[in-house]
Amino acid sequence: MSKFFTSLNSVDIEDEEKEINFYLNALFPLCRSITGNENRKTLESLKEIIPIKTFEVKSGTSAYDWVVPDEWNIDDAYIADNFGNLLIKFSDSNLHVVSYSEPVDRIIAWEELKNHLFINEFNENAIPYRTSYYKKDWGFCLTKIQFEKLKSHNGPFRVKIDSTLAPGSLSYGELLIPGKSKKEVLISCYICHPSMANDSLSGVLLTAFLARSILNNKERNLSYRVIFVPETIGAIVYSSINESEMKSIDFGLVITTVGGQGKFGYKQSFDPNHPINEMIENVFQESGIEYITYPFDIHGSDERQYSSPGFRINAATICKDKYYEYPEYHSSLDNLDLVSAQQIQESLFIYRKLICRMESLRVYKSLNPHCEVMLSKHNLYPLVGGGQRPNQVGEFEIDMILWLLFLCDGRLDIKTIADKLSVSIDVLIPIADRLVDRGILELTSSGCGKV
Ligand code: ZN
Repeated sequence: MSKFFTSLNSVDIEDEEKEINFYLNALFPLCRSITGNENRKTLESLKEIIPIKTFEVKSGTSAYDWVVPDEWNIDDAYIADNFGNLLIKFSDSNLHVVSYSEPVDRIIAWEELKNHLFINEFNENAIPYRTSYYKKDWGFCLTKIQFEKLKSHNGPFRVKIDSTLAPGSLSYGELLIPGKSKKEVLISCYICHPSMANDSLSGVLLTAFLARSILNNKERNLSYRVIFVPETIGAIVYSSINESEMKSIDFGLVITTVGGQGKFGYKQSFDPNHPINEMIENVFQESGIEYITYPFDIHGSDERQYSSPGFRINAATICKDKYYEYPEYHSSLDNLDLVSAQQIQESLFIYRKLICRMESLRVYKSLNPHCEVMLSKHNLYPLVGGGQRPNQVGEFEIDMILWLLFLCDGRLDIKTIADKLSVSIDVLIPIADRLVDRGILELTSSGCGKV
């Protein structure tokens, strides 16, 4: 096990699980959307875990083919009968209201109301999740049982949605974690879903805790760009504001649906031959975990933006109960009965191993490739020579130096070299770094590409 990995996992596992559980419960009830105060609250909470910077982008701001919409906030909503009895209450579940519903306060008949109601055909106990971001409308989502009850009621009904839809701003969070190399890895998650636990709160929390462990690890070589954005519009806005930085990123991770009870899986990046995909498979295999491979598909999450022709970032996603695939997806059953802190943590371990793997792909090159380096000149060899035999106790480090100087031809990465020598990269990287400090090796690339 490498030092990097040990260090990444240096947190107390039980304490961390408790912390994840705390934020899972604290953030689950918030009625997030693509804009609004509950998104700001979510980002503020995340600041307790990692030092993210938050940004506001005004309604009406253009981002490529899109425009930041008006800001949406909601206080309350209900459907009541003629006598004021509340039949459907927003306070029971924020999924009851179609996200971005415009304000309404009217008495209407069933014939009209039914056109604004949405149910889940597959499960009569599930409230579906619906949005209407770009078409001004309003609606309620309810279980099939609730729908049948309303239908038998005859009406009229009072419908009230106490929301505001007005110029404001879109909020997002960013954490830049610099490494020795300027080469950045993108880590993105989306903060726009209301009370659903796997999609997408699990991904938001995993991202925050993963970022914290990367931040605490001083051994890192790569740099990381960690972002918390509303899906689609947020990723587009972020990419447009940070276009040149995003263009120089080669690969990344879109983190979502990582807390389910089912199988692990991963969605490949658009180029199946990109090393990010092989690294993920290696991590699963080394961990002895069975996994499902989902080839790149044009549907999905924000990899659609990051992988578009202007950016072409190879973004992959590791999931535990991938979106689209589990029956509770986009419904009220995607809740805290389905998702636990422990399940999120299981995925967190996998992501940490992946980061470790990325970090281990550094390539060193000898700056003295012609014949042997005179070690004593560089203070690397015992001054009294002649008596040593190879493999003597105490000669291990000299051996590692000699092997590194022999093998670091700029082609083999340090993980491959460590495997060849049957030693851990934990041992090898500090020795290689010392040779870099002495001007004998140079770090030429890191994390599947040039430094
Ligand atoms: Zn979703």
